[in-house]
Amino acid sequence: MKLIAANWKMNPASLKEAVRLAGSCDEKGVVIIPPFVFLSAVGDVLKKAELGAQNAFFEDDGAWTGEISFRQLKGLGVRYAVIGHSERRKLGESDGVIAEKVVVAFKSGFRVILCVGEHWETRKKGKRAAYNFVKKQLVADLAVLKDRRFKIKNLDLIVAYEPIWAIGTGRNDDPEDAAEMAGFIKEVLAADFAVLGGRVLYGGSVNARNASGFLTRPEIDGVLVGGASLRAGEFKRIIAAGK
Ligand code: PEP
Repeated sequence: MKLIAANWKMNPASLKEAVRLAGSCDEKGVVIIPPFVFLSAVGDVLKKAELGAQNAFFEDDGAWTGEISFRQLKGLGVRYAVIGHSERRKLGESDGVIAEKVVVAFKSGFRVILCVGEHWETRKKGKRAAYNFVKKQLVADLAVLKDRRFKIKNLDLIVAYEPIWAIGTGRNDDPEDAAEMAGFIKEVLAADFAVLGGRVLYGGSVNARNASGFLTRPEIDGVLVGGASLRAGEFKRIIAAGK
């Protein structure tokens, strides 16, 4: 079964809408990733889908105003954590910080959805440039996996390939190109980190019309959906495409 992850970002506006939306897409193989403020209520609604967080901090507790720890999230039943989304990188989150978060997420027992992906400036130079960019991000963000003493279960690492130029633009990547990139990411995970069986998702303007193009490729293990996950009817069609 493919993984269908819904990144709601800073939406919807009310708790009532969040609960209604969660109820309408509570299916196996789905991960709902709402804003922190709705995690608890959405968690109460979900019976089959799992819960994810859009971010978390690398300390467990202490004087960190405005931050939320993996430990706190675990207490709410959150199983997945998105780390390094491009919208957070744009706010200044560095590979160094992302790498620290990855360590704590794994140590806390989370399934990590690590987001990587190139800007258009890079992609327009060609696929090789995009591959190099993504590899550099993987090497920096997953540095801990180079330490042989640090063991993770293969299924706990999920890389979301999200070309920045495709996020929220309505301009999705070509499924063939995305599948090639997913294959490349798996090669890097195996060769550089000895991670066999890590999953790779595609994200970037996935909708009900284009979802099956990605979900039918064997190299692509699922999709990370932003905008279209806020429209219940459309998101249900994406879930159906993953079955
Ligand atoms: C995302 O935010 O991860 C994303 C892929 O957004 P969208 O589907 O809206 O492009």
